[in-house]
Amino acid sequence: MLFNSAAVAARHAQAAYGAERVAIVDFDVHHGNGTQDIFWDDASVLYGSTHEMPLYPGTGALSERGEHDQIVNCPLRAGDGGEAFREALGAASCRVLRRSARISSSFRRAFDAHRLDPLANLNLVEADYAWATRRLMAAADKSCNGRVVSLLEGGYDLDGLSRSAAAHVAALMGA
Ligand SMILES: [Zn+2]
Repeated sequence: MLFNSAAVAARHAQAAYGAERVAIVDFDVHHGNGTQDIFWDDASVLYGSTHEMPLYPGTGALSERGEHDQIVNCPLRAGDGGEAFREALGAASCRVLRRSARISSSFRRAFDAHRLDPLANLNLVEADYAWATRRLMAAADKSCNGRVVSLLEGGYDLDGLSRSAAAHVAALMGA
């Protein structure tokens, strides 16, 4: 059996903590097709994603926007680096969070868009993940009293993964 931990976390925030809306911002290099599918027609869960395209699983085009226009896909191309990533993530988080009044945020982080990662072809470095973390924390400060849940799901080069995770956690701690 396979569980979608971001979806479980979003539903738990709603059921146990009374969050009306939850935003999931996903910067895994692979599109979160399961998350998008689960919440496709659910106006209470917003989903924003940056990912390489074309790449497995093949979904995540700009035109995929959900039944309530609450899904924002910002695909990146093979070879893209930090600049394109920052622009896309900024757009994804802005557009998702603009639609939410009171939300709890959650973000799914996987560090497989790192330049060392063997499964994809983006060229991010630790500083890009630290930037993304601070950007999402600032957005959460504005929209949901800074409430952020971070989920780690991937990263397939151990050196790139460990350095990216350390940069992410340091940014979460305010470093
Ligand atoms: Zn991935």
